[in-house]
Amino acid sequence: MLNSIYRATEGEGIHVGTPQVFVRFQGCNIGCVNCDSTDTWEFEDLLGMTMEKVLVDVHEKANKGRIRRVSITGGDPLHPKHVPMVKKLVRELKARRYFINLEASGARLVHEVFDAIDFISFDYKTPSTGVKTPLENIKQLAEQYQGRFQIKSVIENEDDFRYVLRAAEQLGDFDFPWVLTPAFNLGELLPFERFKKIIQWNEESGALFRVIAQQHKVIHGAEKKQV
Ligand code: SF4
Repeated sequence: MLNSIYRATEGEGIHVGTPQVFVRFQGCNIGCVNCDSTDTWEFEDLLGMTMEKVLVDVHEKANKGRIRRVSITGGDPLHPKHVPMVKKLVRELKARRYFINLEASGARLVHEVFDAIDFISFDYKTPSTGVKTPLENIKQLAEQYQGRFQIKSVIENEDDFRYVLRAAEQLGDFDFPWVLTPAFNLGELLPFERFKKIIQWNEESGALFRVIAQQHKVIHGAEKKQV
């Protein structure tokens, strides 16, 4: 069940600025209240492509294979309904020697997928999303996938920041990248004040995080898709 396949330059997290091909799965039942892609919630196949066609399309959009990175995203690509196709896609892309990143909602660890890909971008949800990520999930990632993942948290307000700070302090010394992304909501102008405050809170409270904006939204606006 796919929503779209497109080439874009990574706009967030530690790989910001890196061109890649995004394969977006269609279907998510996590229900973040501030989700910026509710159009990906319904489980349906918008593309109707065979795996063979998907691979040809990825190759074409990767400038005939010159771009070597693919990001699997959603929706929630790790929803059980998607996992069989994700596994098949990963197998085929690895056979073609692509670097594979997967955007995980934070709700679940799927080892059979994580073991086969190169990098995991894993959400730790904040109170403003209305969704809770078990801290146990982050501990497991740290134990099993050291050097192969980042945590991402979208920060809407100071409550969100303090919540993430408490979680990070509970983990004690950690040595993986934890990225704070200032929320840049639909219909909003550039969130410079929120951005500056998050930088300030982070500097004042131990500098545990990396604060990185969603550059694609800065460039194209919060509404534009496939950028
Ligand atoms: S996990 Fe992602 S796609 Fe699903 S509701 Fe949350 S933000 Fe939206």
